[in-house]
Amino acid sequence: LPEPYAVIPTAEDVARWWPRVRPYDDKYTRGVVGVCAGSFRYPGAGELAVAGALAGPAGYIRYAGTAARHVRYRYPEVVTKDRVADSGRVQAWTVGPGLGTDSVAESQLRSALEEGVPMCVDADGLTLLGRDPALLDGRGAPTVLTPHDREFARMAGRATGPDRIGDALALARALDCVVLLKGFRTVIADPHGQVHLNPTGDPALATAGSGDVLAGLLGALLAAGVRPDRAAVAAAFVHGLAGREAGRHGPVTATGIAETLPRVIAELLD
Ligand code: AMP
Ligand code: MG
Repeated sequence: LPEPYAVIPTAEDVARWWPRVRPYDDKYTRGVVGVCAGSFRYPGAGELAVAGALAGPAGYIRYAGTAARHVRYRYPEVVTKDRVADSGRVQAWTVGPGLGTDSVAESQLRSALEEGVPMCVDADGLTLLGRDPALLDGRGAPTVLTPHDREFARMAGRATGPDRIGDALALARALDCVVLLKGFRTVIADPHGQVHLNPTGDPALATAGSGDVLAGLLGALLAAGVRPDRAAVAAAFVHGLAGREAGRHGPVTATGIAETLPRVIAELLD
């Protein structure tokens, strides 16, 4: 096939990839996802990433970070710690939304990377990786990066152009990561050259905190054992559906997207 060759995923593809609860499952076998997001300045980003994770297929959500009290208060089902390193075993991490870029944030990112489990890195986590790409050296587990255009520019050292597929693919290859380049028609590129173009979504998704929900959901899919490229495609697909659905009744908010996700996912799997 000529490259780059973009596949447009269907609802059937996503439904096929989405994990189902099995009769013998317990909360651990369904997947334990860790969310490290939010800060004193942006506690909401931690809550929204957790909200996204709760909408996914994982059985256990752990939170690590400085918004622990906010998260605990809002979501009693989430086990919270201050530090990633104290969080015990998780099967995938989402790191970065609202995290900040100070030394504490960097050490949290480092701790998560060192666990050698699949990871979704978003937002401030991307800024930290852009500063020091060597943090990714020797990773034995897949990493999914979820930049919007400005985060992409920070990481790649150049802006996105008209060829968004080529841009996403170049970064995926350079860093040996799956890259989910957000925006109108989100592109998902994996380092082997496979490209997906997300057909769902709506400009109304361009609302503060929207990406935080996506990152949390993606982490939950990774924790449930979904292949990283498929987890990225599936998360973007249902996130887009939820955004459109949430917009039917008025302005879209990130909280509204998170609250709509369980319904669109249930309909998709029906
Ligand atoms: P963030 O900027 O991190 O909050 O992420 C924004 C989210 O909104 C991503 O999922 C984007 O794909 C989505 N989004 C932003 N602008 C558009 C657009 N014009 N059309 C469709 N989706 C968009
Ligand atoms: Mg964002």
